Amino acid sequence: MKFFYFLLLTIFPVIGMSQEISFSYDIYNSYENYREPSLNCRRIKHADILPLIEKLRHNSKFVVHKLGESVEKRELFLLKIGTGKTKIFLWSQMHGDESTATMALFDIFNFFSANDNLNGIREKILSEATLYFLPMVNPDGAEIFQRRNIWEIDLNRDASRLITPEADILMNTFDTLKADFGFNLHDQSTKYSVGRNYKQATISFLAPAFNEQKDLSQNREKAIKLIGMMNQILQQFIPGHVAKYSDDYEPRAFGDTFQKKGTSTILIESGGWKDDIEKQFVRKINFIGMMSAFLSIANNTYVEMPTDNYDAVPMNDKFLFDLLLTNILVKKNDQHIPVDVAINVTEQNLDSSSAFTSFGLIEDIGDLSIFHGIDEMDCSGLTLREAKVYAKEVETEKEFSEINFQKLVEDGIGYLPVQKTLLHSKNRSHLHEKFPVCFVDDADYQFKLKIGEQPAFYLYKNDTPKYVVLGGKIIRLHNTK
Ligand SMILES: [Zn+2]
Repeated sequence: MKFFYFLLLTIFPVIGMSQEISFSYDIYNSYENYREPSLNCRRIKHADILPLIEKLRHNSKFVVHKLGESVEKRELFLLKIGTGKTKIFLWSQMHGDESTATMALFDIFNFFSANDNLNGIREKILSEATLYFLPMVNPDGAEIFQRRNIWEIDLNRDASRLITPEADILMNTFDTLKADFGFNLHDQSTKYSVGRNYKQATISFLAPAFNEQKDLSQNREKAIKLIGMMNQILQQFIPGHVAKYSDDYEPRAFGDTFQKKGTSTILIESGGWKDDIEKQFVRKINFIGMMSAFLSIANNTYVEMPTDNYDAVPMNDKFLFDLLLTNILVKKNDQHIPVDVAINVTEQNLDSSSAFTSFGLIEDIGDLSIFHGIDEMDCSGLTLREAKVYAKEVETEKEFSEINFQKLVEDGIGYLPVQKTLLHSKNRSHLHEKFPVCFVDDADYQFKLKIGEQPAFYLYKNDTPKYVVLGGKIIRLHNTK
């Protein structure tokens, strides 16, 4: 795959993009100057962005305009900056649990508020373009960190009927602006791979189709060229981690509808990056992608980009698991057979949706040699032995805090029976941070190597435990016991 990208860059050399490239390195290196520090995790709420918008009201560079309110009366705002003739409209988080780009938008606001050695570029962008931003289209969904709005309607399937106030506001804003470019900002599964590759699709792009035939119009072609340009910029920082989102036409979606109405529309999906649970690096990559696009639009350099560059970006695919353990010896019918075991980590909101817990589930078993793991280990020569269940049900948070997890592992225990109310308490997340033990609501629970089960097992070399697999993690054991 490395060779493929080498080839890509050789066939499609960077044309007239030297300023965009040096700018992208400048903001990559000085990103901390622009990063909005009050937003630092995915579960941001409307209340977190309100004081930042209030501050921009008093910033003479920005015009802040209230557009309307969500179902639960949270205000939606349009922020405008610049005086140029090309209109660029960006909206984020129409899915409440997709906040990466919202954070990046506030980094962009900080960039344009700053006064430093990049003033020339700021002035260039703002004299050629006018930028309009609608951050957090779905604040009620964000409040409980769920995709849909509070009526359980997917706003991105409401672009035609417009029965939700949020979709209605977005469509009205779009129709009023008639922007030249539209940026539709989302998050996608962190488990998407770039084609059949082992690399996570950290950013996926799409120039949505405007009909079933996926025809090319002048406007769609502009979006395709701009994506080709952003791809080339981002390959410098996340080589091989850029993919393309499915381009099936969806008439109920905003991107497809806006493309149809004549705006060059670009979908940006923020995916995963290893160990970046809160997606702060992905946020930075978003910031760089969008800023480079603004400069390229201002300089009109993207028009030189061959459309083949877009075509060559691999599609999103599903060849990744969070943890893939290969060749584990498992006892079946008095003999040991080698199997691969794939585990995915699932996230669950807790009481207050500011907290969450995550746990692993067995996703697949058998010959998984065509797949990859974000974490992967060859377990040849290691034999599986199931973890035991703790003898007593945990009933109070005090009992929780008194458990010696180190000792649990030494005793071969991987499952902790926990009373139901505690299972959903937000303190569960603190506990999980301490130790990724599996919680069960039944003291008679018994581990089975079965799809859908929570994995807790030991890997033995002869009679010595070498590793323990707990939830979605594999931990090396140093103790020889
Ligand atoms: Zn989305």
